[in-house]
Amino acid sequence: MKKKRAAAKEVYTVVDLQNWRDVDPPIRLGVFGDPVEHSLSPQMQNAALKHCKIDMQYARFHISPDELREAKDLIRKLEFVGVNLTIPHKIAALDLLDVADDNVKRIGAVNVIKVEAGKLRGFNTDGRGFARAVREEFSVDLRDLRVLVLGAGGAARAIALQCAKENSERLVIANRSFEKAQRLADELRDFFAGPKGLGPVARLQAIRLEEAAIKFQIGHVDLIVNATRLIGLNRGEPSPIPARLLAPHLMVYDTIYSAARTPLVSAAIEAGARAVNGLSMLLHQGAQAFEIWFQREAPIEVMRKAL
Ligand code: NAP
Repeated sequence: MKKKRAAAKEVYTVVDLQNWRDVDPPIRLGVFGDPVEHSLSPQMQNAALKHCKIDMQYARFHISPDELREAKDLIRKLEFVGVNLTIPHKIAALDLLDVADDNVKRIGAVNVIKVEAGKLRGFNTDGRGFARAVREEFSVDLRDLRVLVLGAGGAARAIALQCAKENSERLVIANRSFEKAQRLADELRDFFAGPKGLGPVARLQAIRLEEAAIKFQIGHVDLIVNATRLIGLNRGEPSPIPARLLAPHLMVYDTIYSAARTPLVSAAIEAGARAVNGLSMLLHQGAQAFEIWFQREAPIEVMRKAL
């Protein structure tokens, strides 16, 4: 007789991993975060698993920074297929990998782990997920765009590297801590050595996240990407870019997806620009993760519907 298995929980912890009791279908994938309750990845990945008739499920794991090393050892022992990493683990997990792909090394952050023959391999799918999202949302490729990235953290680094690899016309990096923007621009300088981008402005630039500096750039960029943590929804929190700077020729991509219309997206639409939130990036980075784990095409439309 088949042994009855426990029902899946909303959120698992490291203690659950220590005393693992499988459910049906067995959990072999998940997302590690702190907090993790907000993560939309389970609904998207579970829909994909079900559609592809893969007999396993994907769960949320609330793992604190000091539990990460143990959690990583436990998923190896439990023969997980892999996990996603979200805030605050994307950088710390670098030290726990056996193998890091080139993107991970350059970005300095990992968002996908695959357990392969007992080894943990790290990948970063944010950049490629972003590129696909831009193509889908605005019907244009990064190589044809002059891009202003707001932020220089993990997401911004992935996006800026993708722009560099796809040979964007221009790249401007604006950050509150200017030195971080400068460092990132320096790391990408070789990609922008070519003669593209005619006109009076440099192809690659780091600027301060300040109104005057951004105002100067507006006429020389096509796509503005918010990759800061500024949502602009909390009282007193500014929008990453003042609404008065937004203009009709712009495309605006807000990587934040917790609100359907962030204040930035609303302000951009009001200004006559095209603007979207970060849900499509979430979808495409997740689809790439699925493809890394299973070496097969992800059912994008099923995943999109689940989101
Ligand atoms: P991170 O590494 O911590 O970087 C945070 C960035 O936000 C830094 O550039 C930081 O500037 C800036 N920042 C934070 N508070 C600020 C403030 N009060 N004023 C101005 N700038 C501020 O974070 P991350 O992992 O890159 O995530 C950034 C955003 O991207 C998050 O909102 C996240 O939800 C989003 N994201 C979305 C997706 C998706 O699939 N849609 C994927 C990944 C990330 P300093 O350097 O000056 O501190």
